Amino acid sequence: MSMVCLELLCGISIISQEGGSPDQESVGSGTKRSSVSSGSKSRNHKEFLYRLVDCETFTANLEDWFQSLYEKSAQMKPVFDVPFELIDLQKFDYALEGVSFQQLIRMPNAVYASTSDSAEATAYLAVEDFLHATVKGLWEAFWSQDEPMPFSVACLYKENLKFYQAENAIASGRLGSLCASGVLLKNPRHPHGKWDNLLELALLRPGIQSLVGESEQQPSLHVLGEALFYALRMLISRRLSRQNLPLSSNSAFVLLVDSQYGGVVKVEGDVNKMDFDVNNVYKCAAEWIQRHARIAVSPVDRIWNKLGNANWGDIGALQVTFATFYCIMQFAGLPKHSIEDLAADHGCRLQTRRLERQLGDTRVNGSGLFRFQQHGVSPEIVEVQDESVKLESESLKQEVGSVLWLEDSNWERGYHINQIRSNGELPYYIASPVEDPGKSLFLYVGSHPSQLEPAWEDMNLWYLVQRQTKVLTIMKQKGLSGKYLPQLSASGRIIHPGQCRRPSSGGNCDHPWCGTPILVTSPVGETVADMVSEGHFGVDEAIRCCHDCLSALSTASSEGIRHGDIRPENVICVRSGESRPYFVLIGWGHAILEDRDRPAMNLHFSSTFALQEGKLCSASDAESLVYMLYFACGGAFPDLDSVEGELQWRETSWSRRLIQQKLGDVSTVLKAFADYVDSLCGTPYPMDYDIWLRRFKRSIREEDHGKEIDASV
Ligand SMILES: [Zn+2]
Repeated sequence: MSMVCLELLCGISIISQEGGSPDQESVGSGTKRSSVSSGSKSRNHKEFLYRLVDCETFTANLEDWFQSLYEKSAQMKPVFDVPFELIDLQKFDYALEGVSFQQLIRMPNAVYASTSDSAEATAYLAVEDFLHATVKGLWEAFWSQDEPMPFSVACLYKENLKFYQAENAIASGRLGSLCASGVLLKNPRHPHGKWDNLLELALLRPGIQSLVGESEQQPSLHVLGEALFYALRMLISRRLSRQNLPLSSNSAFVLLVDSQYGGVVKVEGDVNKMDFDVNNVYKCAAEWIQRHARIAVSPVDRIWNKLGNANWGDIGALQVTFATFYCIMQFAGLPKHSIEDLAADHGCRLQTRRLERQLGDTRVNGSGLFRFQQHGVSPEIVEVQDESVKLESESLKQEVGSVLWLEDSNWERGYHINQIRSNGELPYYIASPVEDPGKSLFLYVGSHPSQLEPAWEDMNLWYLVQRQTKVLTIMKQKGLSGKYLPQLSASGRIIHPGQCRRPSSGGNCDHPWCGTPILVTSPVGETVADMVSEGHFGVDEAIRCCHDCLSALSTASSEGIRHGDIRPENVICVRSGESRPYFVLIGWGHAILEDRDRPAMNLHFSSTFALQEGKLCSASDAESLVYMLYFACGGAFPDLDSVEGELQWRETSWSRRLIQQKLGDVSTVLKAFADYVDSLCGTPYPMDYDIWLRRFKRSIREEDHGKEIDASV
């Protein structure tokens, strides 16, 4: 049995021995209750609870006690115990590894968001969403996957201490009167929620972490007083309740959160020891807290990152989730699967992750480019494998000056190879049609289709050639075209040297090139990666690049297509004739056409949502574009080797506005765009392309105008 359950069972044994007190200062408390009959006692308690409604008065009654506590405790030592041991949190963390928490509403960014009602309302909804995701995730993982979750989330209305749906309360302008969000046992007969059905409460109080005192790691009296007040109300309600709670209900949890941080307050004790003097409720309540309550307060830690996503594995979120786990257990009994059961899979998952990581390492090394590497094999084997891999890929490599023939169902066409380029991981070519030598096109050569177990390299080749052919074909069919999008010029199979003996029924012959797919696109140009390394990427380029890529994204998204792989190797600058240079977004092999498609994973340029969820949100491509421009404008990326590290870097960079500042050095419109993207990331709201295309166009015109004046001087 887990330590958690043991501790909890100990809790039960303590309440079940009616007189045996867990606290030291309980002498004398039992005597006053003895003369009252149980019926009138219950009425008396109800009256007491009915009168215990003013949190401020309650807190004021505790002020002296708080003061003495803080004075007594050594400066550096916390006043209260922590509710959870680190070792239990760690075990819980292992158990949660396979659990998915579905977050729908992003926590708005407190630093930039004005203290507007809408930001506040969203914060409320984000807390509720977080609570809902937490109980649902825990319920399905530990208790039951088949039975529906018996809990719901609602907000507490200050004026009458009843529960309402937050959406309704906010819609009717009552946002200011909401004081907490609670998880409740569903009870159709009581739509406004009953206090004894309340599992836990979360208090959203701005600046929780700033309320943490200078010397002690505990929230201030004001916030703590509130938490104690609500916890006490929960405990009294449960004592009065007619329902039988399966497990210990002598402890209550209150969560303290702001838009980034959170902590847990746990209050434990036997409320029967309270002197229920209805004419003196606040004094009695304060006395009970001082003499009979065991209070534990966790450190305040980060829950939501800069982008408003909950970091489920972080200690801040873990503490809060762990508290919720306890609360569910109080109402639903011991879980079907113990923490131990679920944590036992950790070793196995760790192994899988290590393997994935090894694979991942072949993709990310040094400059963040993809390169092939051998792992953990003996030297002899490495050599043999190396050789074979080389042979295989070089056999398909074209040389400058050679002519490659392509066949479609209708025609054959030759391409003269002029240049070999690299997209960072794989070679591709600049080629001219034999019949039109003045024309330049990009030519991509795929991998041999008969390779049943393609190596990592070949998977990338598949995206580059076959998948990209599919995407460009679909775009063509949907009539998506534009100056800033690549065009499918030709696609088909390579015509290999020698006689092709492929069966008439289709398929390939024995020749190692037979059936190899080819893709030809236009236009051609220098990649942003090359421009940056040669110092050709300046202010003009940054603004134009952003405009042109946005225009391409806007066109594609009109048919629901997203790019998913924006990086310096996938944007080219086209210089042709007299027209101004412009940028084209290429490399559409990883494009998202439907829900199940997964974007490319690139530590530096993938959107945060892609790194975390393997999916794109509406602003994801724009987010990648921002990272690319940041890089192209000289912004530095740290040397990182993990998604966690990269996410951490982003969080810090966005929160300190380092990315915006860097882009701001280039142009104010780029900086504003980065701010816009920051505010949109992770939300379901659509990108407003038109506004930004207009703003960029205006800024390009202004610059052109400035140039003409310069030239005339
Ligand atoms: Zn053949």
